[in-house]
Amino acid sequence: MHQITAIFEDGKSVRFSSRADEIVYQAAYRSNIRLEHDCLEGACGACKALCTQGEFRVDDYSDEALSDAELAIGYTLLCKMKAKTPCTVELPYSSRFLTAQHAPQWLDARVVAVESVSSSVKRMVVQLTAGDIDFLPGQYVHMEVPGAGGAERSYSFANMPAEQQLEFFLKVYPQGVMSDYLRERAKVGDDIRIKGPAGHFYLRALRRPILMIAGGTGLAPMLSMLRSMVRAGAADQPVHLIYGVNEASEFFNASELERLGQSLRLTVERIAVAETGWQGPAGHVTRLLRPELLHGGECDAYLCGPPPMVEAAAAWLRENGMDPARVHAERFVTTS
Ligand SMILES: Cc1cc2nc3c(=O)[nH]c(=O)nc-3n(C[C@H](O)[C@H](O)[C@H](O)COP(=O)(O)OP(=O)(O)OC[C@H]3O[C@@H](n4cnc5c(N)ncnc54)[C@H](O)[C@@H]3O)c2cc1C
Repeated sequence: MHQITAIFEDGKSVRFSSRADEIVYQAAYRSNIRLEHDCLEGACGACKALCTQGEFRVDDYSDEALSDAELAIGYTLLCKMKAKTPCTVELPYSSRFLTAQHAPQWLDARVVAVESVSSSVKRMVVQLTAGDIDFLPGQYVHMEVPGAGGAERSYSFANMPAEQQLEFFLKVYPQGVMSDYLRERAKVGDDIRIKGPAGHFYLRALRRPILMIAGGTGLAPMLSMLRSMVRAGAADQPVHLIYGVNEASEFFNASELERLGQSLRLTVERIAVAETGWQGPAGHVTRLLRPELLHGGECDAYLCGPPPMVEAAAAWLRENGMDPARVHAERFVTTS
């Protein structure tokens, strides 16, 4: 049996198992997941998807439905695909086709820890009271803000998949629906609801060196990725993390990053915009970007944080010749 993770265009994802020698489309059907298709003969291309992780075979299909060039970069036809390993496939349409059973549901959870970890960041740990949530390192959930009339915000998992407790790092702004809750009312024992997972920002197969650029709480999904790499014993590829904040007092989990560096080939550079109380480099993360970090384009880049930071870093990578397909980004866009 291989686990197949299917990620829809709107970022929602589902998982199902595919038996050895089973057609992936049929495995999904057996799990009551209806995927787009037409001929089911490998001739029309309606079930074309991009396999971003894992190995597979496709047999008996027409060149018009799937060209050699497409196959070479990971495209597949689900109606003819057999997984050889766990696979992640991206589908070019939204999750509206999912039956109610598979559409992400609101899950009840309880706050089991909430504490300040820097001048502007709270760490919140929640435990589901029923059900479970399966995700890829880097993905996020929708969280209902307790006592705020159903308002919801998005937060990236910092914990690894398949852990009992879910850990989040939340920025506390002077004003804001979630920020007000965290500052004024949040306490252990609060009921909180989450829905997910969601997002195309997830750790790809570890084939190349990795460059991570995180701004503020954009470190959260990077922690999930780095911790997962340690768990997988994945110390082959070098990882370079550039972690930026506005003020040095906002850095969090610096000692954990040091510990992770003992198990991974991880190097970390921190930078703060304001120089006060900080001896390290001052400015924006882009100040630390230099061509040798790109390994001649043979690396995967992960960017996460406030949209202006992500845009600036993505622009630098583009101007320095990085293939956009190897640049993965999550923008912490705000709701209001
Ligand atoms: C996919 C995704 C994942 C996310 N993951 C995380 C995460 O792991 N951790 C995290 O802290 N946040 C994350 N965010 C952002 C988060 O969802 C909220 O937008 C943020 O926490 C602010 O919520 P709030 O309710 O406190 O403020 P809101 O009520 O949404 O905003 C109130 C006021 O604060 C201002 N404000 C809010 N955010 C910002 C900002 N970034 N910069 C400047 N001013 C701002 C607004 O302009 C507004 O004036 C993520 C967003 C997305 C889209």
